[in-house]
Amino acid sequence: MRRQVVEALAQGPHPLWVEVTLMALRVLFEDFERSAELDRRRATVERAKRLLQYLRAARAPSFQAVPSPPDPIPPPWTRQPSVEGAPLWEQPIQFVKGVGPKRALILARLGIRSVEDLLWTLPWRYEDRTRLSRTNQLVPGTQGMICGVVRGVRVKTIPRRRLTILEATVEDAGGQAHAIFFNQPYLEAQFTAGTQVLLSGRVVGGPGGRQLAWHGTGPMAATAPRLEVDEYEILVDPQEPTVHLGRIVPVYHETRGWSSRQMRALVRSMLTAELGRVREVLPDALRRRQKLPTLAQAMEAVHAPTAALSLEELNRGGTPAHRRLAFEELFVLEMALASRHATVARAVKPFRVSPSPGMIHRLQSILPFRLTRAQERVIDEIVRDLTSPHPMNRLIQGDVGSGKTVVALHAVAVACASGLQAALMAPTELLAEQHYLNVAPLCARLGLQAVLLSGKERGTSKRELVARIAEGTAQVIVGTHALLQHKVRFAKLGLAVIDEQHKFGVLQRKMLVDKGYQLDVLIMTATPIPRTLAMTVYGDLDVSVIDALPPGRKPVQTMAFAASQRRKGYQLVVDELRAGRQAYVVFPLVEESEKVDLEAAEMAYRRLQQEEFAAFRVGLIHGKLKAEQRSSIMAAFKAGDLDVLVATTVIEVGVDVPNATVMIVEHAERFGLAQLHQLRGRVGRGAQQSYCVLIDATIKGYGAWARDGGGRSPAEQRREAMLRSTDGFVIAEEDLRIRGPGEMFGTRQSGLPEFRAANLVRDAALIEVARREAFALLREDPELSRPEHRDLQEAMRRRWHAKLALGEVS
Ligand code: ADP
Ligand code: MG
Repeated sequence: MRRQVVEALAQGPHPLWVEVTLMALRVLFEDFERSAELDRRRATVERAKRLLQYLRAARAPSFQAVPSPPDPIPPPWTRQPSVEGAPLWEQPIQFVKGVGPKRALILARLGIRSVEDLLWTLPWRYEDRTRLSRTNQLVPGTQGMICGVVRGVRVKTIPRRRLTILEATVEDAGGQAHAIFFNQPYLEAQFTAGTQVLLSGRVVGGPGGRQLAWHGTGPMAATAPRLEVDEYEILVDPQEPTVHLGRIVPVYHETRGWSSRQMRALVRSMLTAELGRVREVLPDALRRRQKLPTLAQAMEAVHAPTAALSLEELNRGGTPAHRRLAFEELFVLEMALASRHATVARAVKPFRVSPSPGMIHRLQSILPFRLTRAQERVIDEIVRDLTSPHPMNRLIQGDVGSGKTVVALHAVAVACASGLQAALMAPTELLAEQHYLNVAPLCARLGLQAVLLSGKERGTSKRELVARIAEGTAQVIVGTHALLQHKVRFAKLGLAVIDEQHKFGVLQRKMLVDKGYQLDVLIMTATPIPRTLAMTVYGDLDVSVIDALPPGRKPVQTMAFAASQRRKGYQLVVDELRAGRQAYVVFPLVEESEKVDLEAAEMAYRRLQQEEFAAFRVGLIHGKLKAEQRSSIMAAFKAGDLDVLVATTVIEVGVDVPNATVMIVEHAERFGLAQLHQLRGRVGRGAQQSYCVLIDATIKGYGAWARDGGGRSPAEQRREAMLRSTDGFVIAEEDLRIRGPGEMFGTRQSGLPEFRAANLVRDAALIEVARREAFALLREDPELSRPEHRDLQEAMRRRWHAKLALGEVS
């Protein structure tokens, strides 16, 4: 409900009464999750229904005048503060003097709902406005700032140009200047003679300068400089520090109806009024250990920095105050994650898994290779989790080709050996099919029944499958992530393996628990993410890393060619094909230009088939093919009945054909870095030297070495990263740097927390400290029951309860 209200508000300007009603609706649900009594919840829903009816009635064509809202629904701003005597800090912003309901709506657009939100909305940059000039030193054509006394004001209206010009004559020790304000006639009342003011703006007049036609009286008029004012400050009390000028000034993001100037004024008054009452969230001992200023000190320093701080440091967010705020934000998140972690770790599984060394031995004896040390280590960790009475909540990170599937298979085998079912879930149908093809024969040899439940299954065959799952004769169930959304009941689901998943881990588990399963969860990701990011994205999971590739792998040789040079790349493919190996040719396909992209791939396929690769067997695979067609083409390629596979990005993850040793990526510039790395991971899976050729339209001239100088575009940076490294972690760091964390994970869908002070790239080191401190504190005081931790617990709840479903997970 609350999200929908925001969406509705974002759709554009509504009549004020609509906005107010929408906001009332939103406020109703503010602590919905927290109100335990069913009666209160019911009452809330009833009220909401009436508000909705009211809105709907208003929309109907017969609707004439604006009806008065059905009472007894008080408008949000008349609601009494819920906690008696609570500091204004946590109260809705509309209670603040000078804000009110109308401005509260505008501020909501900036994500500001409480005084706390307001002060956590940090300036996005700072300006040095300390340099003062005398009026006689002003230089036409430059910015200038003066401090003087108003001697007189006149206002002139130019109706033809819809212009009001206010001119104030201001005097300082250097003489007089004319300050010009456009369309602010109301300032006349404030700029009375004798008022002391600070003014800054562009100097346009003065000796030899441009003259305004209507002006020209008075002895100084002809020579006095003119200042087109863009910022002013009236000095009431010379003892008071200034807000807008004469200092390092914070600049805030603006929105329609709300300026940086207004923000500064409001923030300043809140700093004065509220700062003394701010509750410190960080425990004292921790704060002193980390040498962090108090919250009050930090807020003061970021919103009203003293001249002692360097502008450069402020703009970089590198001051101790910034550090402190970032730390608090990260620490509170890590606390929330740590306590979630503890909640899961305390839960008890309804079943027991036994170690089953016999099963593991049998599995290893039928594998065509020996496990790497890294794989063995991770398998040990998993078996320990499986056999513990508490649910497993583990993430396996491993670069492409590191052999995650076989590790997961161990988990599956161990769980099944104890009579449980295991679900193996992949993000796409194609990948699920691949998994099934890989896993089913091995399962069969272990005496386990594996089934593929694809979304396309219909009719009797589907009913049959579902029945086998429900009665437990199917033990290993392979499907897409949608598997759990189907109306499938499992007889005894004990393990869920979620492959190639890099979304916020929390949500998967919640989904499972919501379905009534208390089980072991293993998430695998081939998107190696920087450690620091992992700590926030997967903060509540235990993480295992497969940090070595199977032996004998040679790093894929990567090269880039201009489009005009692609023949060189194709020549390489022909050489490999002649040596009996296989190749991929990949084309980009994006939704917006799907049709054109598909045509391009099909055309290229025909050309390759008839010309470049006429001597070889070429197949085409893309997402528009039927599932059966796709799997038969994949099977043919895997069996070696096809030499070249022309593909759109459907092969991106998971496909495993070790004999494929070369990949051409057409229009490499259109792929993201993580995607390129994933694609490249399709080759280099056997003992042979493999190659990846990027055909890049942004390369002018004759190859990757020909660069047109100047700043590097993101496409160039991606290409260079690909050429420089085959290490997934290096690539991921680079990706994070180029795109930023929000982009990298698609903040919206991933649930990656949004920060106001912290920056996941800049504050990498801080995250580690915050995490360490959080886990340590929770060990010390697991329930956060000590009085000195009350405010911290409150802050965790306030900030993360809804987002992380704290305490609901087990
Ligand atoms: P990913 O981690 O990308 O999912 P896979 O599990 O698909 O990787 O494994 C990649 C390839 O490496 C597969 O062909 C798999 O059979 C093989 N493989 C896995 N482990 C080993 C190993 N220890 N030694 C040799 N080959 C291995
Ligand atoms: Mg895989």
